[in-house]
Amino acid sequence: MGARVLKEEATMKCVICKSGETQAGHTVVTLTRGEFVIVFKNVPAEICQNCGEEYVNDKTTTTLLEIANDSFEKGVVVDVRDYKAA
Ligand SMILES: [Zn+2]
Repeated sequence: MGARVLKEEATMKCVICKSGETQAGHTVVTLTRGEFVIVFKNVPAEICQNCGEEYVNDKTTTTLLEIANDSFEKGVVVDVRDYKAA
């Protein structure tokens, strides 16, 4: 777990504005499918310090989609939760 956190803190150049650098932070991710809405709070992300573009890594995105599918199959229409790394 510790190693993964350190890796996620590495900065990178923003691909949107091409001048900003990203910094580790947290964001809110909303996923929708039809009438189904799920909102994740406190999702770890790299955020551009120049334009505010947010980057959620592939592993986190996969986890979010798995949780969303699980809620969707249970028939939950609106779900709001704090993201917790598995
Ligand atoms: Zn940017």
